[in-house]
Amino acid sequence: MSVELHLQNITKTFIKDGVKFDAVEKVDLKINGGELLTFLGPSGCGKTTTLRMVAGFETPTSGSIFIDGRDVTNVMVNKREIGFVFQNYALFPHMTIGDNVGYGLKMRSEATPDIMRKVGEALEMVGLSGTEKRLPNQLSGGEQQRVALARVLVMKPKVLLMDEPLSNLDAKLRIHMRTEKRNIQKQLDITCLYVTHDQKEALTMADRIMVMHKGKVEQIGTPFDIYTHPRTLFVADFIGQANVLAGTLESRESAVIGSIRIGDRVIPGKLIAEENYTAGERVSLILRPEAVTLSAKEDGVLSGTVSSAVFSGDRMEYMVRLSNGQEVSVMENFFPGAEIYSTGQQVQLTFDPRLTVVLPGER
Ligand code: ADP
Ligand code: MG
Repeated sequence: MSVELHLQNITKTFIKDGVKFDAVEKVDLKINGGELLTFLGPSGCGKTTTLRMVAGFETPTSGSIFIDGRDVTNVMVNKREIGFVFQNYALFPHMTIGDNVGYGLKMRSEATPDIMRKVGEALEMVGLSGTEKRLPNQLSGGEQQRVALARVLVMKPKVLLMDEPLSNLDAKLRIHMRTEKRNIQKQLDITCLYVTHDQKEALTMADRIMVMHKGKVEQIGTPFDIYTHPRTLFVADFIGQANVLAGTLESRESAVIGSIRIGDRVIPGKLIAEENYTAGERVSLILRPEAVTLSAKEDGVLSGTVSSAVFSGDRMEYMVRLSNGQEVSVMENFFPGAEIYSTGQQVQLTFDPRLTVVLPGER
């Protein structure tokens, strides 16, 4: 049975250089049973501190934490039934894999045959059956990382907490391990909080993402939601690539469509239904590079001049300079026969207004 987690308005105040500051400010979040939720944000935004409060290594300055409906705010680490995988997953180097994985069970004074059986099951779960007798240095980095996970899973935690667990691995292995970790988590149906500063990792692994910035929650939503409906400039910029076009709102045509003046053009853009906009205010139109199509002939929404064109195998990456001087990044899939534009060429830019997002304010 997977359990729910509730972070109720938690704040953590630290003192740095004699000055009080909120490393985590009023984070309020419910995590569903079996859900994998990532904390995503730049270094120093409060991800680890939040996770450490859930684990019990830090006590919130205010707010409460509930696991499965039980208030654990002041409950000791070892009484929370939580598994924690750190970035530095140090295994005991002189102990066999079997002893490493069985360590916690032995501390709990479980019987040897039970320990052996449970260790075998945990190793099977991470795809390392039969490695009990080996030593950590006889395994690859990726395998050691899996042992670290087995060591946690063997304790049958109710909640799994992972803090940048893949950041010590090389890029290719990291991508492989994302899928693997996610599969194990889903198979066990275990509620999981996963910290990362890597937006690709968050997008590909998470059921939902909580984007953090300077201790505060910027946005919580599914990867699809966060990518297609960023609610702040910070989120738009941090997740994926975004062109931010500065403009003025001419008028609101409907709840979700507005007319935006950009340079000498007025173009449609998608508004956020719940947001208040005032005609005449400065706005930012978020435009993803892959949402734009270039053409040399047809009339587009905007026009400009190609300032750079780079071939990167599966796609062309262009920079296009608009008449108002702003540079827009454009990506087009490349396939044999695809039209290619060259530096200096005049081009028209077309995009579906539904693929844009208009946010109040500007950078
Ligand atoms: P992240 O994991 O997102 O990189 P952290 O949660 O580790 O960020 O840190 C958030 C902020 O809190 C940082 O400015 C960090 O320096 C500060 N911080 C973390 N732990 C302590 C502590 N024990 N005392 C004082 N400041 C701390
Ligand atoms: Mg951290």
